[in-house]
Amino acid sequence: MIPFKKCPICEGEVVKKDVEKLLKGGNNTAVVKVQCEVCLHCGERLFTLETIKYFERIRSKLERQEVSDFQSVGYNYQVV
Ligand SMILES: [Zn+2]
Repeated sequence: MIPFKKCPICEGEVVKKDVEKLLKGGNNTAVVKVQCEVCLHCGERLFTLETIKYFERIRSKLERQEVSDFQSVGYNYQVV
């Protein structure tokens, strides 16, 4: 996978960072920690195709409640 050299939105400089991404599947949510490129100028997060596919796998697991290998870290609340 070729890393991003520039931000596709503003052409700003990008750096590799560890980020947390909130994923939703059905009524379940999970926070995943991944590495991605972050634009120093506009803050855009650039995920590789591999990472996006990984997110999709997590989302479908959440939808099907296949969460036995996920670590529980507190409750999720919705404020209406
Ligand atoms: Zn940018």
